[in-house]
Amino acid sequence: MGTIQTLPGTRDILPEEIGYWQYVETVATQILSRAMYYEIRPPIFEQTSLFERGIGEATDVVGKEMYTFSDRGDRSLTLRPEGTAGVVRAYLQNNLYAAGGVQRLWYCGPMFRYERPQAGRQRQFHQIGLELIGTGDPRADVEVIALATDILTTLGLQSLKLDINSVGDRNDRQNYREALVNYFLPYKEELDPDSQDRLERNPLRILDSKAKRTKEINENAPSILEYLGDASKKHFDQVQQLLTDLGIEYNINPCLVRGLDYYTHTAFEIISDDLGAQATVCGGGRYDGLVEELGGNPTSAVGWAIGMERLIILLKKLQPSPQTSPDLYVVSRGEAAEAQGLLLTQKLRAEGLTVELDMSGSAFGKQFKRADRSGAIACLVLGEEEAENKTLQLKWLQSKEQQTMTQSELFSQVGELKEQLNRHKRQ
Ligand code: ATP
Ligand code: MG
Repeated sequence: MGTIQTLPGTRDILPEEIGYWQYVETVATQILSRAMYYEIRPPIFEQTSLFERGIGEATDVVGKEMYTFSDRGDRSLTLRPEGTAGVVRAYLQNNLYAAGGVQRLWYCGPMFRYERPQAGRQRQFHQIGLELIGTGDPRADVEVIALATDILTTLGLQSLKLDINSVGDRNDRQNYREALVNYFLPYKEELDPDSQDRLERNPLRILDSKAKRTKEINENAPSILEYLGDASKKHFDQVQQLLTDLGIEYNINPCLVRGLDYYTHTAFEIISDDLGAQATVCGGGRYDGLVEELGGNPTSAVGWAIGMERLIILLKKLQPSPQTSPDLYVVSRGEAAEAQGLLLTQKLRAEGLTVELDMSGSAFGKQFKRADRSGAIACLVLGEEEAENKTLQLKWLQSKEQQTMTQSELFSQVGELKEQLNRHKRQ
């Protein structure tokens, strides 16, 4: 019988890779905390109706991609396909709006979509995202975009491109939708089947199509930008001006229409040329209609989500996986020495040192080899003699210098030891 394997579109994030994940989370936490965003952790499954209402039934996510099932109490549940709907539900359910002003929230974790697995596309994938709820000010759009670019550039990613667009407000879109349908109708038979389907349900999404003939037809389609009313135009102009003021380069892409129904005004994507077909690292925009859609008062909001897997594909091209190596590696042999080794290890960890304990019980030679491979700076060595005298050997792995000391001396001089370890680290 074979071992049990992961399901398609899911994978283990192994220790050799975890350094990237922790690095991204650390950088994001720092940058977002400085901007006064608080992390929020809503549940990973929610009532199916939350996503049906919050994302929209005409979208691919709700129409084709959700992991929906009944639990033992016959409730229809869905594994969250994205983060925004759950955050807004939490905002309403917990009266976060009652504090007044704006709420700055961020989240991080797994999302689930039933898609065809390929590079940069999984069924369980991970996002870091944020939401700025409670203001329609164009500065909010620009703050969130700037935070996304801050995170990505702090991680060392360059040559990313920011595409922006405006999808206007409900009225603008109603007019635009009609114009689009009128434009596409004569080409109906030439459109790919998905786009034909979207013609009635969600015609803006046709602009997103990857099908060759549809793309050609899209080239002459009317642009949403010609259908923006004065207020929408003003908002979009202000966003552009503020981006320019902050020195953030952007490109206007009138075909950029996010797949979700609740988006209004600004839509944006951050794209990399190094990712092949799955090029979008970050997608976001303004969603002034969602809070009301989910039962709250009309409330403006803007947010984004970064796809962690795609981000990490890019990081891997830049740098080796950040690994931890111990400051000290403890080598011991013989029952008494092994027991003392464990005790010393725990006490040194309590002093703030990173310490690896060799538990193999193998010959000293083998343990020293592993100590070298661990990347440790120094070794603590305990054999029978050391155990008896309550001493140890401190062996510096690069210089091979070695000194004998009592175990209590090690702790009375632990400050000095830390300084020595630091000096060796810096070399
Ligand atoms: P795409 O066009 O690639 O399907 P999307 O519009 O469905 O993206 P969003 O819902 O905006 O994506 O999600 C934001 C980000 O999450 C994407 O830009 C991407 O980086 C990541 N993402 C989305 N779906 C997946 C997936 N199935 N696997 C891995 N990452 C994903
Ligand atoms: Mg998608």
